[in-house]
Amino acid sequence: MARFAIVTSEEIPKQMPAAFRALLPEHDFALYPDLGAADAIDYAVAWKPPPGVLVGLKNLKAIFSFAAGVESFLSDPHMPRAVPIVRAVSDVSRATMSGYAMAQILRYHHKLDHYQRQQAERVWKKTMPREPAETTVTILGTGVLGADLAGRLLPFGFPVVGWSRNPKNIAGIRNLHGPASFDEAMKAGNIVVCLLPLTPQTKAILDARAFALMPAGGFVINMGRGMHVVAADLIAALDSGHLAGATLDVTEPEPLPPADPLWRHPKITITPHIAGLMPPRRIMQNMADTVRHCLKSGKFEHTADLDRGY
Ligand code: NDP
Repeated sequence: MARFAIVTSEEIPKQMPAAFRALLPEHDFALYPDLGAADAIDYAVAWKPPPGVLVGLKNLKAIFSFAAGVESFLSDPHMPRAVPIVRAVSDVSRATMSGYAMAQILRYHHKLDHYQRQQAERVWKKTMPREPAETTVTILGTGVLGADLAGRLLPFGFPVVGWSRNPKNIAGIRNLHGPASFDEAMKAGNIVVCLLPLTPQTKAILDARAFALMPAGGFVINMGRGMHVVAADLIAALDSGHLAGATLDVTEPEPLPPADPLWRHPKITITPHIAGLMPPRRIMQNMADTVRHCLKSGKFEHTADLDRGY
């Protein structure tokens, strides 16, 4: 039997330890701050941990994150550096995120916003479509999520360009990597989907310069983190007519304040960080599956790297 600590600074249901015990009856779960003997904790299940708490768990063997993005751990200067952080990755999270991106991409491709406006005027008028082959989708970040999206786009006939930090060889797409090929990736993308982690290198990566590189009439989808996009530059690129639209699932800050101009922009769709949202029951089930898999295999997969920053 291993002992788990559930550690987060967010409000979570008090019955979560009992729910985890039901999923993993061979283990014990305690909810921070009522952890009992800190040295007896083997693993943590965590998200946005209060800084300094995890380092106090001296015998921690691994941390299981509730989320795929792990910047809330990396920003803690006291994070125990030798303890692996396992990101929340599952078939369901891949499908959920890719489903959201596909919904936005197909909405743009089928001009659904245009037809919705026509409907309001009761106008029955066809606009000739572009073929998928004429619409390149650039995916910034071809990790777990970006690679999954690429695989789902190809059967539709969209050319896909992927951009990563290290060289990749994802079948069927144009694989680019590194800062030197960023411009090429942006120039190719009629649609640009951001699935990057937030790091010093990727912060504000989608700025006026990046938008100007995109072909006219382009569409931007940000599913990474709000700070990837310079909001004022996005608004300017939309207002000038250079970009046709944008969907932002993530903003800075979150929640987006009511007075923020992003809310009211007619070419921007805002969703409240729900692209990867799953019912709590599913999140816990995925977490339990990951824990069981890691403990059985003795291997921790999809781990974040503190030095790399994601
Ligand atoms: P991964 O770590 O698997 O993939 C990240 C990708 O970004 C990798 O391809 C990596 O390159 C690339 N990358 C990182 N830094 C750079 C850089 N400086 N230049 C070029 N490429 C870079 O993460 P996931 O796919 O699991 O998740 C991606 C992000 O999606 C998360 O960090 C999070 O921010 C966001 N997310 C948002 C959710 C939402 O609800 N909106 C839900 C879940 C995640 P390389 O392959 O070479 O390492």
